[in-house]
Amino acid sequence: MSEAVIIIGGGQAGGQAALSLRQLGFEGAVTVVGDEPYVPYERPPLSKSFLAGEVSEERMFMRPAAFYAEKSLVLLQKTTVTRIDRAARSVHLAEGEPLPYSKLVLATGGRVRKMNCPGAGLPGVHYLRTIDDVLAFRDRLTAGAKLVIVGGGYIGLEVAAVAIKRGCKVTVLEMQPLVLNRVVAPEMSRFYTDVHRAAGVDIRTSAAVTAFEGAGRVERVICGDSIVAADIVIVGIGIVPNVELAADAGLAVNNGIVVDDCARTADPDIFAAGDCTNHPNEVIGGCLRLESVPNALAQGKAAAHAIMGNPQPVTEVPWFWSDQYDLKLQMTGLSKPGDRIVIRGSMAAHKFSACYLREGVFVACQAVNMAKDFLQSKKLIAARTRPDPMRLADPSLALKDL
Ligand SMILES: Cc1cc2nc3c(=O)[nH]c(=O)nc-3n(C[C@H](O)[C@H](O)[C@H](O)COP(=O)(O)OP(=O)(O)OC[C@H]3O[C@@H](n4cnc5c(N)ncnc54)[C@H](O)[C@@H]3O)c2cc1C
Repeated sequence: MSEAVIIIGGGQAGGQAALSLRQLGFEGAVTVVGDEPYVPYERPPLSKSFLAGEVSEERMFMRPAAFYAEKSLVLLQKTTVTRIDRAARSVHLAEGEPLPYSKLVLATGGRVRKMNCPGAGLPGVHYLRTIDDVLAFRDRLTAGAKLVIVGGGYIGLEVAAVAIKRGCKVTVLEMQPLVLNRVVAPEMSRFYTDVHRAAGVDIRTSAAVTAFEGAGRVERVICGDSIVAADIVIVGIGIVPNVELAADAGLAVNNGIVVDDCARTADPDIFAAGDCTNHPNEVIGGCLRLESVPNALAQGKAAAHAIMGNPQPVTEVPWFWSDQYDLKLQMTGLSKPGDRIVIRGSMAAHKFSACYLREGVFVACQAVNMAKDFLQSKKLIAARTRPDPMRLADPSLALKDL
């Protein structure tokens, strides 16, 4: 068989792996098998500009469909891979003949974590991962509509910011005592809570949803003793990585498909990239599963390099962003409970950075409307710098000079 790469999953990791293969001069066949009806697209606008109706579907596409055709990249849409046969080196599809591969990339991403309380299946209870998910509820976010968001993570809060601007009556229910609890220090969490409350969002913490109720459609969300009226519910409580194909094929899985820093599994013909992987990160000093576009793109590229026989480790500091109101939050590194937090700039003026020190080492930065700090902190974190906290707190000193 001549060289044929099959990529399972047409998200940003899969799309990037295909594009990088051609950029690196791969001349064999490349097929991206994806179960969605779209060319690979960017998900971040789904809870931001696309939800707000400010950008079209096409603007989210990584490349227009014609570009893939020009590069002889085959995109199989609405097509699900059901099994990997490593002995025969082929993938089985829900319909049609198996596809043979010489190299295989798993870029299967994640699926939304679902609620399993009573009433979870009622019409009007929505999730947010795909273009079709948004199209199913976007028109209902009209002035006066009662929107209940379950989950005070980034996606839930971004949806709240868009919906309140549209005039919806928005309630966020978060079961932890603080929003963004997993990812930021309490100071940051309180800052975001205050901004949302000032905009009119009703944020309720330590509020665990126990049921959804309604006659034929969701009308109420039950949280222990309290009842919140709802015309529409959007649940954002995280994702579950799609690892079943890999596990069934006997590949190592541990909260993600286990790969090395070059996106390689233990099978020399199989690679994995994006939200579905658990991978080592030198800067973090351990293995982790990241749900971020920069990681999906970096690992997609790494898989292509490894297939070309020129493995290139991913060494990037993890980074991510979130847009809410006038707040452009950009984050580098990963903070943990117990890290010392140093604030540079003014929270009241919505222009500051939260810097995190662990045993004196700069490990993470969450910059709000401070693009320079974001860019410069990447280098400091990668270099494991030990800045003087007093100087760090002084925004008149550039981070790069510390
Ligand atoms: C609303 C929202 C907002 C976000 N905002 C940000 C942000 O601001 N910044 C940021 O960095 N990240 C953000 N993210 C996260 C980011 O979008 C993901 O990290 C990124 O999309 C991961 O890409 P991926 O290709 O690994 O996985 P996915 O995007 O999940 O793509 C995987 C694809 O594979 C398909 N698939 C799975 N199994 C099969 C199969 N067996 N057969 C065929 N196809 C299959 C899936 O349906 C999917 O289309 C956001 C995500 C969402 C949902």
